Amino acid sequence: MAALMMNRAAVRALVPTARAFSVSSVGALAATRAAKAIPEGNTGPTTVTSKHSLHVPETSFVPRREVEETYLNSESSINKTANLFLFTEMIRGLWITLENFFRPPYTIQYPFEKGPVSPRFRGEHALRRYPTGEERCIACKLCEAICPAMAITIESEPRADGARRTTRYDIDMTKCIYCGFCQEACPVDAIVETQSMEFATETREELLYNKEKLLANGDRAEAELASNIYADHLQR
Ligand code: SF4
Ligand code: SF4
Repeated sequence: MAALMMNRAAVRALVPTARAFSVSSVGALAATRAAKAIPEGNTGPTTVTSKHSLHVPETSFVPRREVEETYLNSESSINKTANLFLFTEMIRGLWITLENFFRPPYTIQYPFEKGPVSPRFRGEHALRRYPTGEERCIACKLCEAICPAMAITIESEPRADGARRTTRYDIDMTKCIYCGFCQEACPVDAIVETQSMEFATETREELLYNKEKLLANGDRAEAELASNIYADHLQR
């Protein structure tokens, strides 16, 4: 009986020690796991480095999802071998050549044939008139002010009826960069860029446009200009 009592006392004395040991073991295990913890969203191979372990090289992580996608999207070995020995790439290339051989040609015989030109194409300049024949330009000089190439020169004076009109409207087409700022700035759609691109000249002087030349361009292209401006008015 006395021995039994002594054993019980010994077991009771050992219980706190065992608990402390188990707690410390669990804590150590958790600490070890935390140290080896894999970053969230990254279950691939990893090397744990701390800022104190200067000699351990850092490795870049490749997310498993990316590895799986690369593997799933890559061509199988059987396909690669078949393509290599059966010359499928060569056959596919020749097939494209054969297809295009029977198609109509994409090239056109310029200048006898001409392709479509965008209504917003910025080509040769023109000055427009109202249907009455009156010049639209009111000599506000906004186009001259906004022109980044300083290609426009305007002089103006009041007419007998009090309206202000230009006495000089020059554009140096050798300076112009066809940015379209002048036609955007004009409050009365007077200066515009036409769809004409065929105005190459043999001398530089022929590209110094004056008011008469610009008005003549406008008179020639008025129908086309009016329809293009109307088609574009919803976007403005
Ligand atoms: S298109 Fe541009 S560079 Fe040419 S005249 Fe107009 S604003 Fe000047
Ligand atoms: S073309 Fe237009 S922007 Fe230029 S001066 Fe005349 S009205 Fe003003």
